[in-house]
Amino acid sequence: MEISDGVLVLTSRTMHTTSTVLYEGGDAVVVDPAWHADELSALADLLAARGLAVRLGWATHAHHDHVLWHPRLGRAPRLASPAAAREADTRRTEIRTALDLPAELLALAGLLEPHDGGRLPWRGPRAEILVHDAHAAGHSALWLPGPRVLIAGDMLSDVEIPLLETSTPEQYRAGLDLLAPYVEQAEALIPGHGTLARAGTADSPVSRLAADRRYLNRAGGDDPRLRAAPDWLHEAHAQNLRRLP
Ligand SMILES: [Zn+2]
Repeated sequence: MEISDGVLVLTSRTMHTTSTVLYEGGDAVVVDPAWHADELSALADLLAARGLAVRLGWATHAHHDHVLWHPRLGRAPRLASPAAAREADTRRTEIRTALDLPAELLALAGLLEPHDGGRLPWRGPRAEILVHDAHAAGHSALWLPGPRVLIAGDMLSDVEIPLLETSTPEQYRAGLDLLAPYVEQAEALIPGHGTLARAGTADSPVSRLAADRRYLNRAGGDDPRLRAAPDWLHEAHAQNLRRLP
């Protein structure tokens, strides 16, 4: 799906996982390509059909479903924040154990290089890197000031509650605070799992932020995201509740 000029989003059949492509001219950046072999291959087909060469990969964080790759995406540098790249290094076995993929794809999972700059190093439109420790160490969002699109990683989802995972509630709140000024300006928000939120609609970027804050303050009562949720999300909710004051 074309989100705006130069921004494409594809959604996996598993957990509504999104892959985002930024492109200009013949150059492309692939963010969190996911998930299954046929889906990654279809992504490579799409890029080839549009005459796009992958210049860069970006992983928002070092969880198994965000650090995938396909040989046909080529040999471009695959970058992440320094903390996320370190995490992928130390947890590579764990990452690969969590995946059910052909060996050639497993061999490519979790291979990330650290990038410490404030923006993506490519010739296309500016993409600012916002790093925090909510949900995962060195988790990053990408802010595209041109089209005013926020690629949020595993936060601000319409299908998943905030997943504290390795972060403390304070780190999670600090992550939301960091993203807030961008959320407020965003025309569109792309979550790592779920559907696009558009400004000016009932499901807007600002309403996603409010929902996550309500959840963390335990003021949401019955969070609608838990109503039709799978078992694993209810388990994550129970874990969260043990840690939320
Ligand atoms: Zn994650």
